[in-house]
Amino acid sequence: MRAVTYENRLAYVADRNDPPTTDGEALVRVHMAGICATDLHITQGYMGFAGILGHEMVGTVVGGSPTWKDKRVTCEINCVCRKCDMCLSGLSHHCRKRSVMGILGRDGCVPGIGSTSLKP
Ligand SMILES: [Zn+2]
Ligand SMILES: [Zn+2]
Repeated sequence: MRAVTYENRLAYVADRNDPPTTDGEALVRVHMAGICATDLHITQGYMGFAGILGHEMVGTVVGGSPTWKDKRVTCEINCVCRKCDMCLSGLSHHCRKRSVMGILGRDGCVPGIGSTSLKP
């Protein structure tokens, strides 16, 4: 897949491996992705992020749960465990194992194929 990455500098990568998916996640072919101020801040060191940029997109599910296959989707950028005390108390945006697409511990979605966590 193609990707725009940041690791001390911006780079276009034409042949990056597709991201792995786990239970509760979908592989999404990205049709459109946005670049926002957060992405610009990341290129200035915000969050110490290194990887594929991007956390705003619309696309079609191409992998993961068959229930979602071929669905047009946008994403929830916070990928949570749904098992920790914060998740179970309804505060999943404060999940103790949270990753955030293109910002914290998880590749983002610009351009090509991105992986995101979708709620059933
Ligand atoms: Zn944004
Ligand atoms: Zn959690």
